[in-house]
Amino acid sequence: MKKEFATKRDKYKSSRGGYSRLLNLHCFQCNNVVIIYQKDGPGNLRRLYMDRIMAPEKLVGLQNENIKDISALKCNECGFVIGSPYIYKSEKRKAFRVFQDAIIKSVKKRKNYK
Ligand SMILES: [Zn+2]
Repeated sequence: MKKEFATKRDKYKSSRGGYSRLLNLHCFQCNNVVIIYQKDGPGNLRRLYMDRIMAPEKLVGLQNENIKDISALKCNECGFVIGSPYIYKSEKRKAFRVFQDAIIKSVKKRKNYK
């Protein structure tokens, strides 16, 4: 993907220390890049906030959908199920709960990344 992604800055980001990384999230089973994700702050990836999914297009903006209409997160190459949608209560934020060891992350190299 050649597209450049602008980092989102908002209250969620500031509450996590104010720094972010863009990650390529790979399917554990086939290594396909399933999602490009903005990770705010330190810590493990237990959940993927829908408002932090930068790509692919069809997974961007899911936070505006009804949670009941959002299907489980699957690898588009091999169909491996990666996570299930839910609402992260303490922030009332839509997210995918990631199954243990379902994804592998790698840091996305990016020019002018702050
Ligand atoms: Zn896969």
